Amino acid sequence: MMLSWPLEPSPAIRFVLLFVVGLCVGSFLNVVIIRLPRGRSLLKPSSRCGFCRSSIPTWMNIPVLSFLFSGGTCARCGTAFSARYPAIELLTAILFSAVGAVYGWSVQTLFFCLFSASLIAMTFIDLELRIIPDQISLGGWLVALLLSALNIPGYPIDFFSALMGSISGYLTFWLVSRAFLAVTQEEGLGGGDVKLMGFIGAVFGWKGVLTTILVGNILGALVGVISILIYKKSKRSPIPFGPFLAIGALVHLFQLDLMWWI
Ligand SMILES: [Zn+2]
Repeated sequence: MMLSWPLEPSPAIRFVLLFVVGLCVGSFLNVVIIRLPRGRSLLKPSSRCGFCRSSIPTWMNIPVLSFLFSGGTCARCGTAFSARYPAIELLTAILFSAVGAVYGWSVQTLFFCLFSASLIAMTFIDLELRIIPDQISLGGWLVALLLSALNIPGYPIDFFSALMGSISGYLTFWLVSRAFLAVTQEEGLGGGDVKLMGFIGAVFGWKGVLTTILVGNILGALVGVISILIYKKSKRSPIPFGPFLAIGALVHLFQLDLMWWI
């Protein structure tokens, strides 16, 4: 059910609004990605230059724009900031606008934007540190189950479907990881990936689980083979799997797995 809210803005205004909100949320995700896996507070202290430790003034914290105006360097010591920061802000903004384009001005858009944000944070933490923090996988899973139980009008999934999705996501992926271990004799898929699939199942139900695992495995296998062939990486260099699952989940979110939506 697509529930519209009063004062529905035009598609163009909705696009701009979600884009701006996405930039700001992306700016917060940059903090989450650095601090959450290191057990540091997300709120304090304010952002600092990683080199000279001088705090970054508020006017320099405007997403993307500050980066452009400052040339991406610290005002005090001139150290270059990573281009990852504005890239994550832009990515979040684009995803939020795209979710709005698909789901309109609705409760679904609100929740799917939050879901996309957690996928972005998880992806960049997994790429950097090869871990998926429990706060995102287990925490997101619990929140998704709880929300589905609250009977919020317009919420995309009911509790029973979310529960079935959770169980199918967790069990299917656990079996995939066992099979992977049996075939390759390597612990390739971590427990974090399995919990993440529980989360994705609680958001989408079993259809989303199938798409996510299918797309994730195909992409993971492709990248694995390419990295062995081209970059001569050994089979032993682990590839983080969370990002592939995130792409699989986005394929379902944007209804690109047409078979389920007809
Ligand atoms: Zn500095």
